[in-house]
Amino acid sequence: MDLIKTDGIEKEIKGIISYPQEQFIKIIREVGFECDRCGKCCTSEFNDHVFLLDDDVQRIIEHSGGECLRPAPYYDFCDNLGRFYVSGYALKIKPGSNCIFYTGGRCEIYNIRPLVCRIYPYMLHREADDDGNVEWRQISGLDRHGFYHSDIDDGTCKEIIKEVKKYESGFLGQKLRFLHAVRDLFRKHGLRQSQQMYDRRMRDFKKGKEIEVYVFFKGTFVKEIISNQIINPK
Ligand code: SF4
Repeated sequence: MDLIKTDGIEKEIKGIISYPQEQFIKIIREVGFECDRCGKCCTSEFNDHVFLLDDDVQRIIEHSGGECLRPAPYYDFCDNLGRFYVSGYALKIKPGSNCIFYTGGRCEIYNIRPLVCRIYPYMLHREADDDGNVEWRQISGLDRHGFYHSDIDDGTCKEIIKEVKKYESGFLGQKLRFLHAVRDLFRKHGLRQSQQMYDRRMRDFKKGKEIEVYVFFKGTFVKEIISNQIINPK
């Protein structure tokens, strides 16, 4: 499948792992982010969706069951039979856009929360250059939530760096495995990516029809049938 390109991802993973610690510490110190418990980052209005790595999914299923999950939005592919494919799960949201686990101003699963929630707001700029070099950035606007310019000691910075690198390389590794798996699956079954089918199914989906989404989890695809109600609960 020509549409599937993976070279850049491998380089980006290397770039993440080898990103100089001193430079990253400097960025964390300059931002000096401190949570003010406003809860904005736990809403889809502010953060769109909480993408889960396979380990997150496993931990959350064991703790709370699979009902809190949905296929991550923005499906990567749609085959010529109208089935969508996406690289992982996300957490469901409640009516009003709060995360399914955000209740009464707190996270119900704080001790086992997804890795992306642990590292937020320290995330990577996705647009690596041609050599796979990456830039760090703070994902949200500087004055939209939280406190800034707090003192963050060396030990805390190093912990943040360890977890950010784990998440970002884990995210890309999952994406890479997904792309290989989709390519193999399409080749094996003579399927092809169809943008026309993608658009048609999405139009129907918005009008209330269910769609079939294959979610990549632990090296295989899990079939999910979803309706717009799961994405935008009323
Ligand atoms: S899992 Fe917890 S920390 Fe993460 S978005 Fe949901 S409520 Fe917030």
